[in-house]
Amino acid sequence: MSRIYNFSAGPSALPEAVLLQAQQEMLDWRGTGMSVMEMSHRGKHFMTIAETLYQDLRELLAIPDHYKIALLQGGATAQFSFIPLNLLNGKNKACYVNTGAWSGKAIKDASRYCQVQVSASSEDSRFTTIPERERWDIDPDAAYFHYTSNETIHGVEFPETPEVGDMPLVADMSSNILSRQFDVSRFGLIYAGAQKNMGPAGVTVVIVRDDLIGHADSSVPPVFDYQQQINNDSMLNTPATYNWYLLGLVLQWLKQQGGIAAIEQRNIDKAEKLYRAVDQSALYRNPVDKSCRSRMNVPFVLADSALDKEFLALAEKNGLGALKGHRSVGGMRASIYNAMPESGVDALIEFMAEFERTH
Ligand code: PMP
Repeated sequence: MSRIYNFSAGPSALPEAVLLQAQQEMLDWRGTGMSVMEMSHRGKHFMTIAETLYQDLRELLAIPDHYKIALLQGGATAQFSFIPLNLLNGKNKACYVNTGAWSGKAIKDASRYCQVQVSASSEDSRFTTIPERERWDIDPDAAYFHYTSNETIHGVEFPETPEVGDMPLVADMSSNILSRQFDVSRFGLIYAGAQKNMGPAGVTVVIVRDDLIGHADSSVPPVFDYQQQINNDSMLNTPATYNWYLLGLVLQWLKQQGGIAAIEQRNIDKAEKLYRAVDQSALYRNPVDKSCRSRMNVPFVLADSALDKEFLALAEKNGLGALKGHRSVGGMRASIYNAMPESGVDALIEFMAEFERTH
């Protein structure tokens, strides 16, 4: 068996220890004679898996009691619609800050349900900055304020949680949840697809404050209504059981790593190394303002884009996979989520230096 260093933006690398444990437990989960895939979601074995997962998530993120967790399907994309459907609560406006491709999609989908006020946008800088907070135009009558804490494609990350007063703050944390410390009590709602830092695709985590639950319009289908899902422990329909199990294994792995504070320090170290290597070279360049460079997704371009193909092919040969940048921005992108070991970043830096020397 030979595994590569996988820099995919998502679905992305999982901790090897998690995959090995899943492999070991595949046919017979802890003496039950069944795979987790074959269990009833109402049975006592799966209940144990679900309860442990909810507890571990609460513990790792220090989620206060007055917040509920829902584990839903439809990806973060479904939340682009479920959020206005659940949170508008009779209002007709929501505020969004536009910092890249993913906030753009959230804005587009929310616009089907309400008037979206784009409070600020970094489109003028081609999404390489975060608009200054002092200039955001927030309408106090809006139902909530939405931002994307890490733009997976543009490689832009908010260094701090923005201050929006009493308005419920909603965050798409798909690509940086569990990678750094967040004070959950600052938020009205946090959501994230699992397939970057939490597990395989197919489960979306929603963490929502009590007072925001229970206001979905009566036309909202029950599976999209946070209240109904939470009342049913997110089992209003059959959940993606195997994905919940894998998510649970990743959370246990994260606890063994020392929790979020420890993994955050490792993420800082990995990102600093890689940006330093990019900045010091004459061949590579990252266009993002230093104040908001993502620790998770590091896009970079080569001075001569004619070399892109060769760079990617040679990288593959050297066991460094999925470095091609998103088609909308071109160049390269190294996604270095929690599961990417420091040795993977070191190997990439070494390869980049060697490529520069020889080209
Ligand atoms: N938001 C962000 C920040 C993302 O990176 C992604 C996926 N790349 C999404 C939303 C959409 O997630 P999904 O495909 O799970 O709907």
